[in-house]
Amino acid sequence: KAVKPEKAIAVPEPSTHIQITNPDRVIFDESGQTKGDLAAYYEQIAPLMLPFAANRPVSLVRCPQGRGKKCFFQKHDSGSFGEHVFHVPIVEKDGGAEDYLYLTDADGILACVQMGTIEFHGWGSRADDVEHPDRMVFDLDPDEGLDFEDVKRAARDIRRRLSDIGLVSFAMLSGGKGIHVVVPLTPGHDWDAHKDFAHRFAEALSAIEPERFIATMSKAKRKGKIFIDYLRNQRGSTAVLPYSARARAGAPVAVPIAWEELDGIKNAHPFNIGDGATLIEHAQDKALHGWGFAAQALPAL
Ligand code: ATP
Ligand code: MN
Ligand code: MN
Repeated sequence: KAVKPEKAIAVPEPSTHIQITNPDRVIFDESGQTKGDLAAYYEQIAPLMLPFAANRPVSLVRCPQGRGKKCFFQKHDSGSFGEHVFHVPIVEKDGGAEDYLYLTDADGILACVQMGTIEFHGWGSRADDVEHPDRMVFDLDPDEGLDFEDVKRAARDIRRRLSDIGLVSFAMLSGGKGIHVVVPLTPGHDWDAHKDFAHRFAEALSAIEPERFIATMSKAKRKGKIFIDYLRNQRGSTAVLPYSARARAGAPVAVPIAWEELDGIKNAHPFNIGDGATLIEHAQDKALHGWGFAAQALPAL
């Protein structure tokens, strides 16, 4: 496939209104929210979401007929997203390059929503420097039946152990079952070092407390444990982006929270797309300031 490199970081154009067709189409059957409701949420939340979502390759979960119908995970452009969604060529394993998607502004987000997007997932690196990750994510996946209190305790333990080696981390409720512990990093190391660090960190946790943690994907071995999904940190992997809606019952959203707040949280999906105003207010809390940002390099383990 021929690839014409584009300017990696596009200059945002003046905002044009993205027309949302079929705004009354019900996308979330269980709770009744429509495509118009989803678009309104994203329009409202875009200023909070863009610092995390802009200028990095994204994958989209699209469910054009609603979350209960056929959904698909889309990494590449089908040519239909319009002028507010940009391309960045990324070299694949076979040496050829493929165009990935990135956006820079609210119009880009809404252009994706117009195309049936519910969820936005991001690479751990930016479009202008894809080979040098700037974000590590420990995706905590509890075995079925585990209490959310166990997930909270795991997240706090990971925070403490990261802190012991000099790394600041942040908690995000996934909008599903788990918590993502997010570690912002100054780019400088490559994907091999990134994955290797995450892998060895997860292995070390499971070696210290094998009854609580597991670092291998195997479902069978997960019984009663939390899988520390370090695989979000390999080149080409993505993690759901802060403030993304989820294609799950009730239209929940992924939400950054302060560590101090975690105590009072009962599950990983306390907010939904109807809570835009609450989330904007929440983001004004002093405890949320600076969430997801820190100037720190990956240490040697
Ligand atoms: P939960 O808290 O319920 O686990 P989650 O977003 O962490 O929610 P996971 O199943 O753990 O869900 O997935 C982790 C990440 O893997 C997702 O956030 C997404 O970026 C990526 N992912 C999910 N589905 C696919 C897919 N079909 N193809 C590629 N990557 C995917
Ligand atoms: Mn998960
Ligand atoms: Mn996972």
